[in-house]
Amino acid sequence: MDLPFGTQTPELDVLIVGAGLSGLASALKILSKESTLKVRIIEAGDRLGGQLGQNGTRLVDGEQKDMLDFLTLIQLSPRRRRSDNGRLLRCWDLDRGLTALPAKFELGRYIEMLDLRMPKFRSKRFNLRERVSNMEQHICHHLFFSKSRNFMLNLVELVCGVPANEVDYDVFMSVCSSCGGLKTMIDFYFTYPSSFYEVSTQHLIENILEQMQFITITLNCRAVKVEHFKNYVQVTDELAQKHTAQAVILAIPWNKVQKLEFEPRIPKTFVPPSATKAGQKPCRLITQFHLRYGKSVWAELGYSGNFLSSRPLVSGHECRMSTLCGYMLHSPEEQDDVLEDVLDLLSAQFGEEMRQPLEWQSSTDELNTAMHKPQTKPWHRIIWSSSSAVGTSYRSLMGGAVQSGVRAAVNALFVVRPQVVSWKDMLDERPKSPNEEVRTGRLRGLLSRLNLYNVTFYSFFVLGLIWLLNLGYARASAS
Ligand SMILES: Cc1cc2nc3c(=O)[nH]c(=O)nc-3n(C[C@H](O)[C@H](O)[C@H](O)COP(=O)(O)OP(=O)(O)OC[C@H]3O[C@@H](n4cnc5c(N)ncnc54)[C@H](O)[C@@H]3O)c2cc1C
Repeated sequence: MDLPFGTQTPELDVLIVGAGLSGLASALKILSKESTLKVRIIEAGDRLGGQLGQNGTRLVDGEQKDMLDFLTLIQLSPRRRRSDNGRLLRCWDLDRGLTALPAKFELGRYIEMLDLRMPKFRSKRFNLRERVSNMEQHICHHLFFSKSRNFMLNLVELVCGVPANEVDYDVFMSVCSSCGGLKTMIDFYFTYPSSFYEVSTQHLIENILEQMQFITITLNCRAVKVEHFKNYVQVTDELAQKHTAQAVILAIPWNKVQKLEFEPRIPKTFVPPSATKAGQKPCRLITQFHLRYGKSVWAELGYSGNFLSSRPLVSGHECRMSTLCGYMLHSPEEQDDVLEDVLDLLSAQFGEEMRQPLEWQSSTDELNTAMHKPQTKPWHRIIWSSSSAVGTSYRSLMGGAVQSGVRAAVNALFVVRPQVVSWKDMLDERPKSPNEEVRTGRLRGLLSRLNLYNVTFYSFFVLGLIWLLNLGYARASAS
């Protein structure tokens, strides 16, 4: 496509849209290579960090190499998660009731089956088949108990950003495989294993800011329009202010990119195929909360603080001494009741003392969607970033945000100062996803297919066959 020539001289070298982890990582990389460049970040919200939330903690596993390197770069050493040595119990609704055991059994088998099939769905092979069942149908077809169904429906929504009935099986498997697999996502969103490292989001943002004093960051500044000229890009914000730059990094998820007006329109080759009309449906919100109490009430009752309720989805864990961190998934209409709902659920499990936290902090964001093929190439001067939009080894995780941010920075430098980009920067390091290492044995694959439906069906089939043979044999010997 031939882009028109613009008539202005761009005021900036690089404009970064979005001050989430990927946007901040881009800024840091650009400055570390060339500190004289004029860089600006514009952020729609009133705080930095985006999905990192406020005053919370994030977990990092050993696989997220880019994130661990990044932490070293900003002089932040992650510490091991607090461990209760397995003495204390988790408090999950999945563990309660008479059906807990069979529900957990069938869920375990289902997760095993999906994880074993996942290596076939590498993100590079992202291929939308027609007439493939959606995840809600797939889950209901394979799982019998509502507990196990709810667990999986929630997980699909968290991973893809839209309800399970809008996500095709193929899409879910491809997205999940690029996130490091189903078990990895369960660890990050629900189980919070003590083998992981813990990072305070507040320290993370503070340390990043310390390293980049020469960057202008404008908060409450939402980009609404992007005009792409041959010699620069012009971004207009909500207050009709114009920002012109030689290169623009859009460090925002794809559902937010779809809300921008592009002039000229994004060529089809850059629009990732999407399974449904995301963006036309009402959005889902995620509120991250942080509750501080005088003491760990849950520990006195024998619980570790790891909490999970499926309807509505509320998950949490003890992130610091006597402090619960977690999140709730909800619609915009439920926004005002989040605190009450969370306290109701916690007090029902841990007692009335939970109703009076000493401190309550929360931050609400729209859930990022990741149900499309990840972006890889920039569109001339417009460079895509964000952990959910771009192809990385740890999609939808902090490692993915950092990897996509650093790669976007290198691409932007290539546009504005190609002489500072070394071959090493250009080398696209893509460590293998843990899924690629998995060797799937035939027997394991077959066994993983067993669920309550097909085991019951085949048992009745075999019993029926034996009964018929017996009947035939009895008749034959009687005559
Ligand atoms: C509850 C929860 C728990 C998580 N736990 C972990 C964990 O333990 N470990 C882990 O590795 N990962 C975890 N993650 C994932 C991790 O936090 C994210 O992958 C990462 O923070 C995403 O960063 P990002 O920069 O790609 O996107 P975002 O954080 O979404 O940043 C995008 C930014 O762009 C801004 N923006 C959007 N539109 C515009 C616009 N038009 N103009 C200007 N600005 C705009 C937004 O306000 C936002 O600040 C978790 C995520 C959630 C939701």
